Amino acid sequence: MMRLKGCPRCQGDVLYGQDIYGRFRQCLQCGHLVDLGKPRAVVSKFAAGAYPCEEVA
Ligand SMILES: [Zn+2]
Repeated sequence: MMRLKGCPRCQGDVLYGQDIYGRFRQCLQCGHLVDLGKPRAVVSKFAAGAYPCEEVA
C-alpha cells in the first residue's frame, strides 16, 4: 500500500511494508522510516536486556 505525500519530514510518498520485525512505512523520497507494529519494539527491548532470558524461556 502507498500513501501519497504522507511523509512528516518531506511530504514525500510513503510505502507501507513488512519484514521480520513487523510492519513499517518508509518514505520513497527521503527514506524516513516509521515502525507501525509492536514486534520491533519488543525485539529492541530484548536487545537492550530489558527482559531476563529466564523469563522468556
Ligand atoms: Zn520523506
